[in-house]
Amino acid sequence: MVKKQKIVVIGAGPVGSLAALYAASRGNDVEIYELRGDLRDPSTTPLNFTKSINLALSERGLNAMRHAGQPKLIDHVKAATIPMRGRMIHGKKPNGQLYEEAQDYDIHGRAILAIDRGGLNKRLLDILEEMPNVTFFFNHKLTGADFNKNKAWFEVKDGTSSGEKGQRAREIEIDFNFMIGADGAHSAVRYHLMKYTRMDYEQQYIDTLWCEFQIQPKENPEDDSLMSKFRISPNHLHIWPGKKFMFIAIPSDDGTFTCTLFAPAEFYTFLESDPSGAHIPDFFDTYFPGVTDLIPPRPIDLLLSLQPPPPPHQHQMQALPLQFLGRYRDAAHAMVPFYGQGMNAGLEDVRILFDILDKHARMDEETVDHDPASARERALDEYSRVRVQDAHAINDLALQNYVEMRASVLSLSYRFRKWLEEQLNVWLPGLGWQTKYSRVSFGNERYSEVVRKSEHQGRVLMRALTGLLFGALGGPLVAVGVVMAVRYRRAVDVGLRAAMGNVDSMVEYMTMNR
Ligand code: FAD
Repeated sequence: MVKKQKIVVIGAGPVGSLAALYAASRGNDVEIYELRGDLRDPSTTPLNFTKSINLALSERGLNAMRHAGQPKLIDHVKAATIPMRGRMIHGKKPNGQLYEEAQDYDIHGRAILAIDRGGLNKRLLDILEEMPNVTFFFNHKLTGADFNKNKAWFEVKDGTSSGEKGQRAREIEIDFNFMIGADGAHSAVRYHLMKYTRMDYEQQYIDTLWCEFQIQPKENPEDDSLMSKFRISPNHLHIWPGKKFMFIAIPSDDGTFTCTLFAPAEFYTFLESDPSGAHIPDFFDTYFPGVTDLIPPRPIDLLLSLQPPPPPHQHQMQALPLQFLGRYRDAAHAMVPFYGQGMNAGLEDVRILFDILDKHARMDEETVDHDPASARERALDEYSRVRVQDAHAINDLALQNYVEMRASVLSLSYRFRKWLEEQLNVWLPGLGWQTKYSRVSFGNERYSEVVRKSEHQGRVLMRALTGLLFGALGGPLVAVGVVMAVRYRRAVDVGLRAAMGNVDSMVEYMTMNR
């Protein structure tokens, strides 16, 4: 166990709250500093979200909560979720008829869980509130930190909720043994840390903007059950793949769906091209058939009311080190949301961080000269080495998944590979074959390991398929080849080269479309 320390967590989002729970359950004094007011106070406006949003919670996030030392947490969290067992792809046939096609995520029926982000966050705050060694500091904005002297400064807004006009601001200074930065994509902790250590940091924006809509529940006076309220299947993540665009819908436990439109910036320029919005219904009906029936009167009115468009998605990476002299770590790496892993990866960060801290603390206990501070330094070194690779891997996977969701789900090669891999998983379990999606969403293997195994599977499959193809055609081809070799040696040479070129490009194609 790590010795009792003053651990300061910056940010009371889901990741910061779980980090505080892990730190507090190890007996440390924990202080949580949060820029906004208490999320549980109805007058607090969420920072980035106008209303609470739905997220896909999967195994990594659940596993991190399972190890938080709060047996009831998982049951409570799960009780407020809706299982989504697959994607529901929406489209239009050439004859104009609308269709839905279900694609299960997993051949064993495992599901990811739709959860209200605010609800999960509140539950974690409620548990922390009951712990005597945890103190909250809401309306406290980190404005500076000195990682040599272990001091930090906060701007404090006195008042009931953040952002209220007329609030007076004052500054306070605190000290700490260890600071955990979980203050989101624009992390202030990271910004200050970068002044103290040589830390590579990379940020890229992708050309995609997003905005949210709601599908309201059905009114049914004769049936008050939850299931009767959903306008489309509640057990799927709904996708309208538009190739360059994508519209998705995730169920909530009040019968609504939170929908997100992802589209490139030029789309928003197109929207603004006619202030009347008269051109937009056609656009929706072409790319997202059926959506205009679900969001009455027209999603268009909502879209036009969004001024300015929401910020583009960020794609951020960090390189070593994630720590400075064992006093800080950063859970604030951002990623695009297309694998539904942002929060899951952040929660997993917490579990892995504390596993490694515990391991080094135990090793330190066994030594004659205890030195918890340098044990923590070694732990954070290891954490950085391990986790940075995985952060890069999930960033790449999330970017690739955007292509999969908006386009590949319609392609035959994608569906064939998924089917084949699932059959191998069921009929030859000894091979340990799994789809990439299952490894990411239903397992806890390192993300970098998922990438490695999936690439390996892609190569093996391609070789096997190529072998089968040549095996079937082998006899006739050899006979023709011998005759040609005798008569037209040069033609054979050219023919073989062309054939090999095709195999290479097929291999490349299959590897890219994993
Ligand atoms: P945040 O939720 O950003 O919380 C950071 C906290 O730090 C905030 O409360 C903020 O007020 C506070 N803070 C900021 N600056 C300061 C400061 N200077 N001082 C003190 N406090 C500060 N993830 C999934 O796992 N599954 C999904 O399906 C999914 N879908 C998503 C869909 C969309 C459209 C988006 C945008 C994201 C999605 N994500 C998803 C990602 C998920 O929302 C984030 O990964 C998650 O909210 C991160 O939690 P966090 O606690 O690290 O940070």
